Amino acid sequence: MRLILLGPPGAGKGTQARRLMQKYGLVQLATGDMLRAHIAADDDIGKRVKEIMASGQLVPDQLIVFMIAERISHPDCEKGFILDGFPRTVPQAEALDKMLADLDQKLDAVIKLKVDEGKLLKRIEGRFTCADCGASYHQEFHKPKVEGICDECGSDHFVVRPDDNPEKMKVRLTAFREQTAPILPYYEAKGILHSVDGMADIDAVSDAIDAILDKIAIST
Ligand code: ADP
Ligand code: ADP
Ligand code: ZN
Repeated sequence: MRLILLGPPGAGKGTQARRLMQKYGLVQLATGDMLRAHIAADDDIGKRVKEIMASGQLVPDQLIVFMIAERISHPDCEKGFILDGFPRTVPQAEALDKMLADLDQKLDAVIKLKVDEGKLLKRIEGRFTCADCGASYHQEFHKPKVEGICDECGSDHFVVRPDDNPEKMKVRLTAFREQTAPILPYYEAKGILHSVDGMADIDAVSDAIDAILDKIAIST
């Protein structure tokens, strides 16, 4: 199964990708997480993207495409993967098609998380993430079961993203509207675009995604 989760910042892509990864054993390919790992390592890619990411803008297509092309050809991706945060521009979507064609693979579904933009700021302002395993939480909507302890790995080390603030969110939403939303018709034309209500609670969104995946499995 090869999926794309698509939606603006805070739509729930990471939360749902992680659940799908755990449920179906698919690899989660989250370009934002990959870039943050490069920044933490302070390597060449990290140095190039640090300021761009902090500003809320998108990093150059070429760099992202290079990073994904390298990752997607690893053997652990053969069984399937969930793309979270990629593609984010039309050239990236076209590059992905070419990459998959070269690997003799195809996309099964693009799942759009439909959200109310006005409510996203509250989502990202309350977001915090486990520094050790990447599990993501929310101060109000998804607290760890035991306060201060990660449900998944027991760590007590959490981080808040530097771009999760109102000023950068504005830039990120504009980038979504202007550069990412235009890829929706691209996938609609291919007949693989599905949409779920991303404002429902986390379990209900997972159920809606499962229902779509079940349907696809029956028809293929
Ligand atoms: P994205 O990867 O699309 O930016 P996340 O999955 O990180 O979004 O979710 C953003 C924040 O909103 C996180 O703090 C997460 O815990 C919370 N969240 C995710 N899905 C929902 C939901 N359906 N309802 C309420 N809060 C949610
Ligand atoms: P969110 O979960 O809020 O949607 P991400 O973690 O996916 O955010 O991405 C954070 C930042 O990383 C983006 O604002 C952008 O600077 C960069 N980034 C991530 N994925 C891409 C991509 N596919 N193309 C360009 N920039 C990207
Ligand atoms: Zn953890």
